[in-house]
Amino acid sequence: MFQSFLIKYAEIGIKGKNRYLFEDALVDNAQRALDNIDGNFKVTKEYGRIYATAETSYEYEEVMDALSHVFGIVGICPMIQIEDCGFDDLAENMIRYIEENYGEKNFTFKVMARRARKNYPMDSMEINAELGGRILDAFPNIKVDVHHPDVVFHIEIRNHINIYSKIVPGPGGMPVGTAGKAMLLLSGGIDSPVAGYMTAKRGVVVDAVYFHAPPYTSERAKQKVVDLAKIVSKYSGPMNLYVVNFTEIQMYIYDKCPHDELTIIMRRYMMRIAEYFARKEGAQGLITGESIGQVASQTMQSLAATNEVCTMPVFRPVIAFDKQEIVDIALKIGTYDTSILPYEDCCTTFVAKHPVTKPNINIIKKSETHLEEEIDRMFQKAVETAERIAIE
Ligand code: ATP
Ligand code: MG
Repeated sequence: MFQSFLIKYAEIGIKGKNRYLFEDALVDNAQRALDNIDGNFKVTKEYGRIYATAETSYEYEEVMDALSHVFGIVGICPMIQIEDCGFDDLAENMIRYIEENYGEKNFTFKVMARRARKNYPMDSMEINAELGGRILDAFPNIKVDVHHPDVVFHIEIRNHINIYSKIVPGPGGMPVGTAGKAMLLLSGGIDSPVAGYMTAKRGVVVDAVYFHAPPYTSERAKQKVVDLAKIVSKYSGPMNLYVVNFTEIQMYIYDKCPHDELTIIMRRYMMRIAEYFARKEGAQGLITGESIGQVASQTMQSLAATNEVCTMPVFRPVIAFDKQEIVDIALKIGTYDTSILPYEDCCTTFVAKHPVTKPNINIIKKSETHLEEEIDRMFQKAVETAERIAIE
């Protein structure tokens, strides 16, 4: 059993004086992920290395699963860590490591030693050669191949000595909490959970807002969005989800505005309300799951008309993705099965047969003047009655 995991992270963009912020966020996020599983893990940082060390027994698969949700990690290396020791002890530990972790002792290898502590009596080249020799002596079917080895045994001489040979790829990205906050418009569809995931992957904290229209949309439809928020938050960390009752505004638009403009005007109000909550949460931008040309409300003209009401930047991470590309990510991150549950959506309830595909902003604005009498009051009511759900 490995008692430790070496957590590797990409160093791009983290040089300089802010590096510790990146590392500390990664330590915190990895610790939070591992707190949910057995092992009583402690995550620590030491001179450009992050370790997760178990104090009690744990399930290997659970560790891999937990860490695979922590952005910023590029590799997870199950390792043994031994006390600083002389070469004979090191070689013994190395042999035992191979005994215990490789069933078929029939592969090619090389040793790659790195000496961070320069006063170790042998240098890296000597360790590579000598340790290679001991391995060859112990296992007759194992051979050296310095160019294309099946296995690379990494030896790191530090305050302790680390031995590892497996590097399991991590999710990449930047630690959540290192790049501000954004408000995700989260529907029950396939696209917006993926958009939230992608933004969180770059280190952004994500809160979310969902518009429902009871009784046209059901409690099940809302629960589906809560479930999607939970899946996204496995990657993005704790999230506030605002559930806004949008029925009154939707009905009012339906009564007062041309039906072919309904979707656009509705979406403009969604953006306005989302921006209200973004401000309230101290977020710097909005996120949607829009993709050019996917539906009438996602033509360039429609996007422009929707965008026009926002003062914050609107991030649309899947803007240029094909549906299948979005589906592939949804499958990978585990939102797909929930997204395809067939519950009604507030947008489709009132949708026109022939929505405008090239809305003219001036015409839309003119139509919105028909809402002047009641809309401010309704807007206030919608934000005041919104339910705030803390997603852990
Ligand atoms: P999705 O798969 O994310 O639902 P979609 O392809 O169904 O997207 P639309 O329904 O036009 O597209 O919605 C575009 C974007 O608007 C969504 O990705 C989402 O960000 C936001 N949105 C749509 N409906 C809602 C809603 N009921 N609550 C919150 N956001 C919504
Ligand atoms: Mg949708």
